[in-house]
Amino acid sequence: MRTKFFYECNDCGETFESSNIIYLCSKCQRKNTLDAPPFGVLKAVYDYDRINSHSTADVFNQLEKKCFIDLLPLKSVESLPYLKVGNTPLYHITSLDKEVLDFELYLKDDSQNPTYSFKDRASAVVSAFAKENDIETIVAASTGNAGSSLAGMCAAQKQKAIIFVPAAAPLAKLTQILMYGARIVPVDGNYDTAFNLSIEATNKFGWYNRNTAFNPLTIEGKKTVSFEIFSQLNKSLPDRIFVPVGDGVIISGVYKGFEDLLKLKIIDKIPTIVAVQALGSSNIVNNINKEVPVFTSSKTIADSISVDIPRNFRMAKKFLNNYKGECIVVSDEEILAASKVLSSRTGIFAEPAASAAFAGFLSYYWDGRFEKGSKNVVLLTGSGLKDLNAVQKIIDIPSPVKPDIDAVAKFLSKSS
Ligand SMILES: [Zn+2]
Repeated sequence: MRTKFFYECNDCGETFESSNIIYLCSKCQRKNTLDAPPFGVLKAVYDYDRINSHSTADVFNQLEKKCFIDLLPLKSVESLPYLKVGNTPLYHITSLDKEVLDFELYLKDDSQNPTYSFKDRASAVVSAFAKENDIETIVAASTGNAGSSLAGMCAAQKQKAIIFVPAAAPLAKLTQILMYGARIVPVDGNYDTAFNLSIEATNKFGWYNRNTAFNPLTIEGKKTVSFEIFSQLNKSLPDRIFVPVGDGVIISGVYKGFEDLLKLKIIDKIPTIVAVQALGSSNIVNNINKEVPVFTSSKTIADSISVDIPRNFRMAKKFLNNYKGECIVVSDEEILAASKVLSSRTGIFAEPAASAAFAGFLSYYWDGRFEKGSKNVVLLTGSGLKDLNAVQKIIDIPSPVKPDIDAVAKFLSKSS
């Protein structure tokens, strides 16, 4: 049977059939070492001419209905979890203070996914693919969101999830993973150690692996956000999209979605994507123009985008260079300040990684870089409830007042 898509190596261009489960390019992965981003990450490529000839109208319909089966590596949308993944709101924000903005600002709120993060888009597709291929056990290495997301999707689909976590993973995210009934394997080491061990376990026990920049289907799930943005803007493109960047997989997913639409001639250009990294974890931005990249260890409050070795560096760099993306770094102080602005002026409480994207937007705004009438989207990738510790230093929970009305009046006059 003719397969719906094939894989293409990001580095050497070699193609591979999709009928077997495959992770990295067999040729390029021989070059891989433990201390550098991997070579040989694969990209799913569809038969765009065939889709175009029989169903551009269908694709438009699918975009309208927010189901994209022609552009997903699945046989049927029925294989996806029943939980509502994707299809998240795109809010039009007209002002941040008293002044009305003279450009359009849209917030894509992906904290509205079932496990409260963007990662559900990837987990849902991986879980559906496993279901279609009678695979019961899915494994991933994660410091938080990806693991809790996979655990949630597997709970809904009656699949087993096994999550390798670094010993120091944050309690809130571990709690979420365990509540969904997944098995946790704490590893004495960092994320990279957990990542490598999960791959060894995949080989030894025959499980299916969800690791990002390893399993090519995660990008196929993540790209759906671009279809939605295009569709929600009444089939028009934004001028800029601010995306938080850690290992480079989400931004590659956003690009891949628009690239699919470009290949289908549904759009005629790719919007400008702004890669926003935390100052303390900016290995992609710092190395974007370097011939020989140098990776330094990371330290930022935005734990979801805190990575030492950005695993999808090579693909993200290619996308950013090919489509003239822009890059910006924001400090932890800017992330915290942006988080407060976002929460208090829009009603969306986002996790620090998502607030980083908003901080990138604010930096452009204060520099007067938005053209009048331009459309700008900020991708908010996760809920602030995922990491309450991060924002403790910018809030002050007051001591209790005596239960009498005069004390309340005195208290209110002081705190105002
Ligand atoms: Zn290759």
